[in-house]
Amino acid sequence: MLQSINARTGLAHGAAWAESTSRDIDLAALQARQVARDFAASTTGLRATLLRGIGQRLLFAREALVALADRETGLGLPRLNGELDRTVYQLEQFALALDQGAVHLLLDEPAVAGAAPLGRPRMTRIRVPLGPVAVFAASNFPFAFSVAGGDTASALAAGCPVIVKAHPAHPALSLALAEQVQAAVAQCGLPAAVFQLVQGAGIAVGVTLVQAPAIAAVAFTGSLKAGRALADLAAARPRPIPFFGELGSVNPLIVLPAALASGAAQRAAALAQSITLGAGQFCTSPGVILVPQGEPGDGFVRELAGQLSQMQPHGMLTAGIRQSFESGVQAWCHVRGAQVLAGQAGGSAATPCATLVQVSAADYLAQPALQHEVFGPAALVVRTAALQEMEDVLGAIGGTLTVTLWGIDGDAAQVTDEIQALVRRATDVAGRVLFAGVPTGVAVTAAQQHGGPYPASTAPGTTSVGLAAMDRFLRPVALQDAPDGLIQRLACG
Ligand code: NAP
Repeated sequence: MLQSINARTGLAHGAAWAESTSRDIDLAALQARQVARDFAASTTGLRATLLRGIGQRLLFAREALVALADRETGLGLPRLNGELDRTVYQLEQFALALDQGAVHLLLDEPAVAGAAPLGRPRMTRIRVPLGPVAVFAASNFPFAFSVAGGDTASALAAGCPVIVKAHPAHPALSLALAEQVQAAVAQCGLPAAVFQLVQGAGIAVGVTLVQAPAIAAVAFTGSLKAGRALADLAAARPRPIPFFGELGSVNPLIVLPAALASGAAQRAAALAQSITLGAGQFCTSPGVILVPQGEPGDGFVRELAGQLSQMQPHGMLTAGIRQSFESGVQAWCHVRGAQVLAGQAGGSAATPCATLVQVSAADYLAQPALQHEVFGPAALVVRTAALQEMEDVLGAIGGTLTVTLWGIDGDAAQVTDEIQALVRRATDVAGRVLFAGVPTGVAVTAAQQHGGPYPASTAPGTTSVGLAAMDRFLRPVALQDAPDGLIQRLACG
C-alpha cells in the first residue's frame, strides 16, 4: 500500500491506497504502444499546445501543489515555488523548440549527378520518436525531475507516450501532478494512454515496467545502485532498449592558487551555501573540494569549515536517504588520515549536520571508498601538492556531472600548458565544466549538458536537462530519394 507521509512529523496523512499491480503495468505499456504511432504522427504544434497546457495547469494549481509538495518533502515553500516555476519554464522551452519546427528534420542533402563516390542520391536525415518511454521520477526534485519534469516534457515533445513510475517519497503529489497532465492530454483531444502513472513502494513496479515489451526506452534519475540494476535489466531484455540513467556525481570543485589571492572569504561563503542547499540533496552538490596545501589554502579551508558550522540544513527527504548520508559520513571520518573540520555536533534526529572532512590527495587516491558520492550536506576537502595531483584526483573520480575550476581568468598568458591539461582532464570526466560560480543550479538552455561519463550517466552522449534532452527519444532515419511532399509530412510536423 502507498501512504502519504508528512515529512516534518513522520506521521501518515489520509488513507493509504493500492500500488500498481503487474497487470496494471503491462496494460499501461500495451495501451501506450497502441497510441504510440498516432502520437508520433501528431503535429509539433499539437505537442507544443500540450506542453503549454500542462504548464498552465501547474501554475493554476500552484498553491495546492506546492502545499502538498511541502507536506511530503519538507523542502519549504520558497524552494518549491521556484522549482515549480522552473518546471513550467522547461515545458515552455520544449514548446518553443517545437514551434521552431526543426525537431524531426536534421539534414537534407540534394542529389549529385554522376558516378559514385562523388555522385549520390538525395539523402534526407530525419528523426522519429522511439515509442513509449518509462520515466523514473526522482525524490529530490518533486516538480522538476518528477511526474511533469524534464524527462516527461522531453519525451512528450519528441512524440513518445510516457509512463511515469512515481517516486514513493511524494506519492500524493505524484497523483495530483498526474491529474494535471492527464487533464491537459484530454484537453488536446489526445488519448489518455499518451500519459500514464504507475506507483509502488518496492522494486517490483519498476522492474515490471522496464521489462514490459512495449516500453522502448527508460529515463531514470536516482541512485547508482537502483540505476545500475535497472540499466542491466534494460540491457538483458530479449530486445534491449536504451536506458538514460543519471546515477550519481561528486562534482569536484578546484580552488586554484589565483582564486585564493582575493575574495577567498566570499568564495568560501558561496561554497558553504552550495554544499548545504536543499540539505545537499542536489545531484550537482559539490562533494569534493581540491585546495592547494599550505597558506593561503589553509585559511580558505578554515573559513569554509567556519561557514559550514553555522549552517543548519533542513530535514532530509526520506529516512533511507538520511541513513545513507550518516553511514557515508561515518565512513569518511574513519578512513586513514581523515580530519573532521565541521560536523562533530549539531545534527538531530530531524536534521543532518553540515560536515566537512579533510584528507591529503595521497590518502584520497589510495582509498577508493572516498571516491563515492555521499548524498547530503557534506564535502571532502582534498589537499593537493601540485596541479598534477589535481589531475590525478579528477582521473580517480572518473565520471561526474560537473567540475568547477576557480582561478582561471581570461588572460591568455595565464592559460599555461599545465592549466590547459587540467581543463582537458576536467572535460574528460565531466559533462559541464564551470569557470565561475557553484555547480548547484542547472540552466535549461540549448547548450546545457547534464550528464557525463559513468556513473554520472549511463549514456554519456546525452543530456537529461536542456533542449537536447529531447534527442534521447528520437532515432535518426535516412530517407533516400524521398519525394518533397513526403519529407514535408514526415519531417516538418
Ligand atoms: P533510488 O533508491 O535510486 O530510487 C529511485 C527509483 O528507483 C524509485 O522509484 C525506486 O522505487 C526505484 N528503485 C530503487 N531500487 C530499485 C531496483 N533495484 N529495481 C527497480 N527499481 C528500483 O533513489 P532515492 O530513493 O531517490 O534515493 C536514494 C539514494 O539515491 C540517495 O541516497 C542518493 O545517493 C541517490 N540519489 C541520487 C540522485 C542524483 O541526482 N544523483 C538523486 C536522488 C537520489 P522504490 O523506492 O519504489 O523501490
